[in-house]
Amino acid sequence: MRKNIIAGNWKMNLDHAAGLELFAEILTLINDDVKGDQKVVVCPPYIHITSLTQLLKGNPTIAIGAQNCHHADSGAYTGEISASMLKSSGAEYVIIGHSERRAFFAEDDLVIAKKLDSVLKNKLSPIFCIGETLEQRNTGTHFGVIESQLKGAAFHLDEAQFKKLVLAYEPVWAIGTGLTAAPEQAQEVHAFIRSKVAEQYSHELANELTILYGGSCNPKNAAELFGQEDIDGGLIGGASLKARDFIDIIMVFNS
Ligand code: PEP
Repeated sequence: MRKNIIAGNWKMNLDHAAGLELFAEILTLINDDVKGDQKVVVCPPYIHITSLTQLLKGNPTIAIGAQNCHHADSGAYTGEISASMLKSSGAEYVIIGHSERRAFFAEDDLVIAKKLDSVLKNKLSPIFCIGETLEQRNTGTHFGVIESQLKGAAFHLDEAQFKKLVLAYEPVWAIGTGLTAAPEQAQEVHAFIRSKVAEQYSHELANELTILYGGSCNPKNAAELFGQEDIDGGLIGGASLKARDFIDIIMVFNS
């Protein structure tokens, strides 16, 4: 059985007090409402991670993740944070290869591959993001783009390593735009990803892999998206900043 995961990406939002307040609200609502065995991952800015893990107090439903890390364990990389530091702060997941990192920080497949290696070496779970731009979709090259992102950044991993990934299909044109992929469009790409993983590794691994959808997911469209055969949850940006909306998205797996 595949694990259902809802991950919230807070991006560069909320100062420390506001982050604690939102997280406390999420914890209360989760305790009251969420009964299923889905995993919830909250990915705040780095500076909140230690405080949020302390508030968790062993809650098994929810885990803390980071939004990025450097590929080296330590060294002269001013301003950077390593996977080993994240591990020591209590984080369990790290988003790697988000399209905003690719676009604004020039991260290419080579760098993303090194980051995946480092995250796995430090026994954290990567949430590995892939997805096409609007131009790539409009010119019909999106399947090729997805395949090349998989090959360029992740297919060097052996089967045991790849098994530890959570994948997130995030069409760039749907992120923060209010334009959601139609459930059939998302399903088509998720099934394609699974077929490429089966070709590279095995059908068993492809079937077990958790693949999230991300891109303007909200309480209104989540049920239809998560109802697709190959969609196992979501990576949620904007809607994860409102506790009620985030919980309502999580609740899709309870109904
Ligand atoms: C994201 O940043 O990963 C994301 C999916 O954002 P949004 O939900 O705001 O489109």
